Amino acid sequence: METEFSYQSLNSVQGRCLATQIPPEIFINICQDLPPTDLLSLARVCKKFYSYLCSTNSTTTQEIWKNSRLTFLPFVQMPPPEGMMELQYVKLVTERGCQFCKKPRIRKVYWAFLVRCCRKCLEDRTIRLDQIRHHLQSPNLIPDDFLSGLTFTTGFYKSGWDRSPKHRPANLYWIQNVNDTYAEYIKLDVNGRREWIKRKREEGKIKMEEVVKREIEHENEYWTKTMENSKKRDDRASMIDYLIRKEKNEYGFPRFKMSIVEQCSTYNKAMMSTSTSPFTERAWIGFRNKLIPEYTQLFSSLRMQRQETERHLSPDVAIQTRQMDIVKTIFELLRPEGEQRQFSNTVTVNQQQQQQNTSSDSDNNEPLENGNQIKNNNNFVFENFLIKYLPWCPTFRNPPFVNKDPRILWDDDFLMSVLIPQLREEALYLKNYPAPIDTVCGAFLHGGLNNKRVFGCKLCINNNNNNNTQDIPQLYSFFEVRLHLTKDEHKVRMINDDSMIEVYPSLSKSADNTSYSGQLFPRNKPEVFFAAGFNCNLICNLLN
Ligand SMILES: [Zn+2]
Ligand SMILES: [Zn+2]
Ligand SMILES: [Zn+2]
Repeated sequence: METEFSYQSLNSVQGRCLATQIPPEIFINICQDLPPTDLLSLARVCKKFYSYLCSTNSTTTQEIWKNSRLTFLPFVQMPPPEGMMELQYVKLVTERGCQFCKKPRIRKVYWAFLVRCCRKCLEDRTIRLDQIRHHLQSPNLIPDDFLSGLTFTTGFYKSGWDRSPKHRPANLYWIQNVNDTYAEYIKLDVNGRREWIKRKREEGKIKMEEVVKREIEHENEYWTKTMENSKKRDDRASMIDYLIRKEKNEYGFPRFKMSIVEQCSTYNKAMMSTSTSPFTERAWIGFRNKLIPEYTQLFSSLRMQRQETERHLSPDVAIQTRQMDIVKTIFELLRPEGEQRQFSNTVTVNQQQQQQNTSSDSDNNEPLENGNQIKNNNNFVFENFLIKYLPWCPTFRNPPFVNKDPRILWDDDFLMSVLIPQLREEALYLKNYPAPIDTVCGAFLHGGLNNKRVFGCKLCINNNNNNNTQDIPQLYSFFEVRLHLTKDEHKVRMINDDSMIEVYPSLSKSADNTSYSGQLFPRNKPEVFFAAGFNCNLICNLLN
């Protein structure tokens, strides 16, 4: 608690109870500045304190609790409900747990019934308006408004005896109150009943107004606390994510793949935790020690499973699978900075730097980015803006497979320390030394022609030449010609852009520019990759 009040030292000095020696005036003085939770603890210390604090007929006791409540419980400023002592009132709102089944952590107070309870206990003890006649077994004698003196709450039953939506929400009455008021009503004669109902209607209206006021006042506190806690939980989860992504391996790349971390129970338990305390350095060390073995085991077993299934792939499917492994790894390496929820200033600064690097994109910066810096600076793992050059990198098109067999997985060390740095060099070269515009690579990467219909199918052209026809070849955008090659009459499994696609860059300068624009566009992620020149047609579904 906030106070430095020590009950132990107060309670026993040299084995004797101190409470008996404290004059009531001084005790009351001490109590003036204590929050309700401390007063409750104090009442549990000994009989004497209990009698001071829990007396039901002392106005001083009432004053102590009232002052404490008004000072420390800003969302419980209304006076206690009629017939309720300050102490009970404070207990109702500050204690936790269902008052009936003792289910822990329950904080919901039903002001209509002055109880704090769980949903199940509420359902057990309440009855819906439309069931009351059946419950009382005297259908004809009761007018609708014999209940009008009672307070009720509006319940939304998610499960339970009636799932029909027209009965939701329903007004719920406390069963005991219904029985009592019915017993009261049934004793009266006809005239008495009329008067009684009139009076009850007035009372009920006032009581319900009060219930609503209390619910609003208390609900404010409930939501404030809930939001504070959920923010704390969010911060904690962000901190855990941040620390995991921050871990680097020996090449300066992220140590953990989030896609695997997300399958670890250590991680999921931590993310699901209801704890609102901050994630400390010590907590991280413990967490990390648990995560690493689980991660390592999961990583190698996933890899073995994959290797087992991919051993049977046909070579061309395997090649595309390996190429996509490169792409996936690059995206995983880029992801930590790109996707991270903003957490600390350092992260924000890094993101800004990265954006600057991406946007400036100017050629004179780049020599500086080469060489050793790759390993030290995470921003230069493989820049976003280099990805579009990847399909044209020689090492990407013809990668060094393990034992020359594309069905064997690369290990991550090789990808990170050899293959990706090599690809980065090649991508930078393609960027800095543009290919001629009449090559597929040049037209696509540098000519701005990727969506212009300046591409032809060499396979069709060769066929036509054989047939000796002089037709103007059919023209496509880059995406369209690649689709054409994999579909229709060719059904090419592995597209080789240079040997299968012809470029007519001069056509783009034609006066009627619009008719040369492509009409088909990628609609999903695999198609976007395919349209960018990645051969993924054997492992993804493309449109027909
Ligand atoms: Zn004592
Ligand atoms: Zn309960
Ligand atoms: Zn063709």
